[in-house]
Amino acid sequence: MRLKIIVSGIVQGVGFRPFVYRIAVRNNLRGYVRNRGDSCVEIVVDGEEKDIKSFLRDLVEKKPPLARIHEVVAAPVESSGEYYGDFKIFKSSGEAEVSGSIIPPDIAICDECLMEMRNPSDLRYDYFFITCVNCGPRYTIIEDIPYDRENTTMRDFQMCSFCRSEYVNPANRRFHAQTIACPRCGPKAYLTDADGLRVDYRDPIREAGKLVSEGYIVAVKGYGGFHLAASTLLDEPLKRLRAAKHRRQKPFAIMARSLEAAKSFAKVSPWEERALTSYARPIVLLEKGERYYLSELVSPGLHNVGVMLPYTGLHYMLFDQVSDPAFVMTSANPPNQPIIKDEEEAFRRLRGLVDYFLLHDRRIAHRCDDSVLRMHGDRTVFIRRSRGYAPEPVRLKLKAKRCALGLGGEENNTVCLIVGDKAFLSQHIGDVENLETLEFLESASMRLMRLTNSRVDVVSCDLHPKFATTMLAKRLSEEHGWRMFQIQHHYAHTAALMAEHGLSEIIAVCCDGYGYGEDGGAWGGEIVFGSLNPPVFKRLGCLEEQPLLGGDLATKYPLRMAAGILYGHVDVEGWLLENSVHLPYGLREAHLMLSQFRRGEIKIKTTSCGRVLDAASAVLGVCYERTYEGEPAMKLESAALHGEDILKIEPQISGRVLNTTEIMISLFEGKDKFSRRDLAYSIHVYLARGLAELAMELAVENNVKNIGFTGGVACNQIITEEMRRIIEQRGLNFFTHDSVPPGDGGLSLGQAVVASIIEF
Ligand code: ZN
Ligand code: ZN
Ligand code: FE
Repeated sequence: MRLKIIVSGIVQGVGFRPFVYRIAVRNNLRGYVRNRGDSCVEIVVDGEEKDIKSFLRDLVEKKPPLARIHEVVAAPVESSGEYYGDFKIFKSSGEAEVSGSIIPPDIAICDECLMEMRNPSDLRYDYFFITCVNCGPRYTIIEDIPYDRENTTMRDFQMCSFCRSEYVNPANRRFHAQTIACPRCGPKAYLTDADGLRVDYRDPIREAGKLVSEGYIVAVKGYGGFHLAASTLLDEPLKRLRAAKHRRQKPFAIMARSLEAAKSFAKVSPWEERALTSYARPIVLLEKGERYYLSELVSPGLHNVGVMLPYTGLHYMLFDQVSDPAFVMTSANPPNQPIIKDEEEAFRRLRGLVDYFLLHDRRIAHRCDDSVLRMHGDRTVFIRRSRGYAPEPVRLKLKAKRCALGLGGEENNTVCLIVGDKAFLSQHIGDVENLETLEFLESASMRLMRLTNSRVDVVSCDLHPKFATTMLAKRLSEEHGWRMFQIQHHYAHTAALMAEHGLSEIIAVCCDGYGYGEDGGAWGGEIVFGSLNPPVFKRLGCLEEQPLLGGDLATKYPLRMAAGILYGHVDVEGWLLENSVHLPYGLREAHLMLSQFRRGEIKIKTTSCGRVLDAASAVLGVCYERTYEGEPAMKLESAALHGEDILKIEPQISGRVLNTTEIMISLFEGKDKFSRRDLAYSIHVYLARGLAELAMELAVENNVKNIGFTGGVACNQIITEEMRRIIEQRGLNFFTHDSVPPGDGGLSLGQAVVASIIEF
C-alpha cells in the first residue's frame, strides 16, 4: 500500500522531518518526507497496511514538542513505477498548494543545549549560539520558505565536518537541525568600543557582562534586534540611558539571571513562573517584592517591574562572571522607530549613547521585539504579543469566507492575516507615525502572506481618515486590486474579542484612550453590541462626555482633563493655580485655562475611560504628565494597590450614560480626608461597577448572555477583576482576551475578522 500525506500546521523548523524519518523506519516503511514551499510537509509511505496505520497514529501522538498539526490529509497513490528501497529525507520542493501553514516563532534555548554549553568536554562548550531541532531562532532568521538552511541567514555559515556529521545522523538530536553550528563554523561574537572599533577579548560575552555590571551601557545584538544593557543596581547608567533615550519615566524591561534571582526582588506566582520559564520567554510584569532593592530608576512610580529570563546561550553567559541579579535589557529603538537590527544602523543610531557593542555576525532577517504580558491571577493578558508567539496563529472558532489582512490602528500596532480558521498576527510593529515603521508594517504584511502561501482578497483598516494605516490600505488596495474595508476602532476591538472566543453575540465594554468614533468624535468608553453572523455593531452606551481642553494637550497634561471635569461643580481655581507648576507654561497657562472655562468655549469632548483615569491621577497628585502611553492610569493602578473602596458611590447611570463627574468631585473633596490609596482604589471600583451595571442592563434589554471587556483599560487588573466578579455573580458570561492584546495590538485581528466574513 502506498499513501501520500500532506501535513499542515507548524511542521517546518521543529524537527518534523527527522521525526517522520524515525517513525517511518520504526514502522518498517519505505518512501520519503520533504518540506514544501507552502510550509507544509509531504510524506509518501509504502508498506503493509497495519504499519501505515501505526505510522499515522505515531504521527499525531508522538509529534515533536514544538510541532502543531492543523491537518493531515492522506490519499492512496498509484505506484508509478518508482521503487523506494528505504525511507529518505528528500530535498525540499517549491511546490505550494496549501495556505495557512507557517514556521514557528523563535524558541528559547532548551535544557539539553544549555547542559551541553556548560559541559567542558562538549565540543559546543561555551558556544553562545548552541541550538537544536527543539530550540533557537526561526522566525527572525528565515528569508524564504521552505525552511531550509539556504533560505535562512544561517546560509552565511558553512557547516564544519563535525556539525555535518550530526546533521546527517538520524540518531543525533541535531539531525537536520538547520541552525546547527559550533564554535568553529557558526556565528561568532565580538565586542567593539563606542566607535565601533573591535576590542580583542578572548571572552567578549563575559567581558560585556562585567562591563555592564561596572556601570557601562552595552548594546547587545540578539535574535530579533538590539537591546541596551545596563546595571539595575546603579543609578548613574540608568540616568544616562533615560536622558539618551528621552525616556524620563517609562519603565525599562530587565533580564534576571535566574528565576531565583527574580524572586529576590519580585513576587512570582506559580502562573507567573510558568510564563517566565515557558519557551516563549516573555517579559512578565511582576509585583515588586517587599524587599525590592533594584534602582528606583528601573520602573519609577509603578508597583511592578517587567522581568524576563535569559533565552539564548549568550544571555546566560553575560551573567557568568558577575553577581548582579538582573540587567536592564531594553529594546534599542530611536523614539517611534522600529527596533534596530543591523550593525551599521546600530553604530549610526547609538553612537554617543552606548559605551560598547556586543555583536555577532549573523544577519537578522526580520526584527522582532520581546513580548510583554501580565497575569491577572491565572489569566494571561498580553501587553505585546511578539517574540516567542509570532507568527504562530491564533485558532479561531469561525471560518473566514475570504483571506483578509488587517492593518491595525496607529499605536502599538500589529498586522493580522486571516486564512481559513487561522489568524496570523505579526510581531509588534509599534507606533505607525513615520516612514520606517510604516515600511516595517508593509514588509511584515508581505512576509506573512509569503510564509503562509496566501493571497489576500480584502485589506481592512480603521475608520480614521488620516491614519497612516488607512492611507496604506488605500494604496495596497489600488496596487493589488484588493477590496478595502474600514471598521470603527471599538467595533474592531469587540470583533477581536468575539473571534477569539467564537461568540456570535456580545455586549462589549470597550475602554481605552482614543478611537475615532462613527460620528467623528473622540470615543474611548463605549458599550457596544456586536454580532458576527452577519457582522453588525452598534454603540449602545458610553461614559459621560467630558471636555478635552486643548485636544492632545489634555492627554499629555491630565491636570487639564481634571480641571475640565471639575470646573463649575467645585471651586477648582485655587487648586489649579497651586498646581500650575505641573503645566509647561505655569501660572499663565492656568489663568488662560480658567478664562476658557469661564467663556465656556471647550468644544471638543471625549467619552474616553483612559482620560477619566488620567484626570483622577492628577486630582490625587499621582501623575501630572504623561511621558509614555498609559502612564497616569498605570500609576493610578499602582497607587490603588491593596486599597479599599472608601467612597462607596453608587454608579449613576441615566440614558445609557455612566456619570463620571460625581466620582471626580468626591475624589477632589476627599483628597485631604482619605488616603490616596483608598481614593485611587475607589474610582477603579466605581468605573468597574458602573460599566458592569450598564453592560448588564443592555445585555438584558437585548437578550444577550455574553459580556466582554476589551480595549487597553482591560490590562488594568483591579477594574477587570471587579467587573468579572459582578457579572459572573449575576450568572452572565464574562470574556476577556487571552490570546491577543486587549489594547491596540489586537485591533488588526478584529479588523481582519470582520473583513473576512462580511458580505460585500
Ligand atoms: Zn536545544
Ligand atoms: Zn561546526
Ligand atoms: Fe483601542
